[in-house]
Amino acid sequence: MSLVFYNTLSKKKEPFKPIESHNVGLYSCGPTVYDDAHIGNLRAYVFVDVLKRTLIEQGFEVRHVMNMTDVGHLSGDSDGGDDKMSKALKREELPLSKENMKIVGQKYAKRFLDDLKSLSVIIPDETPFASDHIEAMQGIIKILHDKGYVYKTSDGLYFDTEKFPDYGVLGSTCAVGQENVSRIEKNPEKKNQADFAVWKFTQTRNKHGNMPNGTEGVGWDFEPFGNGFPGWHIECSAMSREYLGQPFDIHTGGIDHVGTHHDGEIAQSSVAFDSPLANFWLHNEHLILPEGKMAKSEGNSITLSDLKDKGVHPIAFRYYLLQTHYRSPLSFSLDAILAAHTALERLVVSIALLPKSAKEEGDSSDSDFVTSLSDALVDDLDTPKAIASIHENLRSSPNTESIIEGLKKADNLLGLNLLSLADNIIVHNPETEVKELLQKRAEYKKNNNWDEADKIREKVKELGYSIVDQGERTLLMRPLSRLEII
Ligand code: AMP
Ligand code: ZN
Repeated sequence: MSLVFYNTLSKKKEPFKPIESHNVGLYSCGPTVYDDAHIGNLRAYVFVDVLKRTLIEQGFEVRHVMNMTDVGHLSGDSDGGDDKMSKALKREELPLSKENMKIVGQKYAKRFLDDLKSLSVIIPDETPFASDHIEAMQGIIKILHDKGYVYKTSDGLYFDTEKFPDYGVLGSTCAVGQENVSRIEKNPEKKNQADFAVWKFTQTRNKHGNMPNGTEGVGWDFEPFGNGFPGWHIECSAMSREYLGQPFDIHTGGIDHVGTHHDGEIAQSSVAFDSPLANFWLHNEHLILPEGKMAKSEGNSITLSDLKDKGVHPIAFRYYLLQTHYRSPLSFSLDAILAAHTALERLVVSIALLPKSAKEEGDSSDSDFVTSLSDALVDDLDTPKAIASIHENLRSSPNTESIIEGLKKADNLLGLNLLSLADNIIVHNPETEVKELLQKRAEYKKNNNWDEADKIREKVKELGYSIVDQGERTLLMRPLSRLEII
């Protein structure tokens, strides 16, 4: 089967063809590093990871760039509201300065990358910080200005969407002429409410002169326009071009980016360089709370460490996410996440219990199991189908070698680390107390004293392990929640 992805640009599934035959340039809008990522944000990056793994398994060399937004993302997602980084400094009781913004940004970027590692997400090749690329952004703004696409208001420089007839090509709800501009704060100085800031001044200039607006000292000089900071969309236009060239192959982000961020990126990059920005645009649907949007700013966000505190292994959260297709909304339910944890544990235990020979004999020849996994993933990343195929093959495959072969493929594609979790769920060298209990139990078993053997099983359970009898063998297992992240 050939590789197809749903392209938000064409609103249909399309065969994927990179610009260069074996290389793929992939850009993912990264986190705004003003707080810990919530588990909704993490859905966006698990989806990208499966996309990348699928491309790699198809033989492509992937160059993956993910920016860290440490400047310019306003809480209104558009041109209004407080600057998110300034809010973080207030929260952490740090004086407002560019240095402190950098410190806070780096702190949360590191915590974000640690979350990705726990989730077995392959770390991108490049993770550039927006604040290190201001000159490149200013360069694009100058080109846009010289071409007549940018105008000045009292609080910034704005892109004139009316001059770009394709504005809203992704399906923006705030395209020119459309009334639905709910996500954009009304600004009487804009020519069109869909226009977006490419540069925001640190001081508003109105007829009374310069008015401070709380961002003094955190801007960059930009002659002849004025000290300020970049708009959120220009950051990704500049960094994607710098690291991947233009056009590049695939751009990803959450579905919320369709309405503002990505239509903005497309408009300004296409106008500045007379070329499309990216050929494929892939968007993940959201993880939603029963009460609506999960947002760091709403104070209702759940983090990966909240889940860990509840005994959920990060890979179990990954498993939970992959049970739903990335283009379907997913309603958050802790019960469902806990159920996914239990299901993964059972799966891992059943793999650990496979006959030893099966675990060693997998070879790389294609089996039905391998083919079914590949077929599911190349069809627009059908992860639920791939997971169903793992269960089906474990249940019914007569050929033990092909199971291991399939599990290797599943680990490469889905990043669930099933084989190494299975290796680690078995305890080879327990503490002396447990070892002695196991020896005693073996004796009781030999003498058919099952009552005493069962009592020992209970004692071992109290010490945090479970015993599995497999014919002559007795295996000691630790619970999934206690397994190191591998
Ligand atoms: P942010 O840190 O707000 O810039 O968002 C980082 C990424 O998470 C972006 O790709 C967003 O589109 C995505 N995102 C935000 N909220 C959710 C959610 N609830 N579910 C899935 N993805 C989300
Ligand atoms: Zn972006």
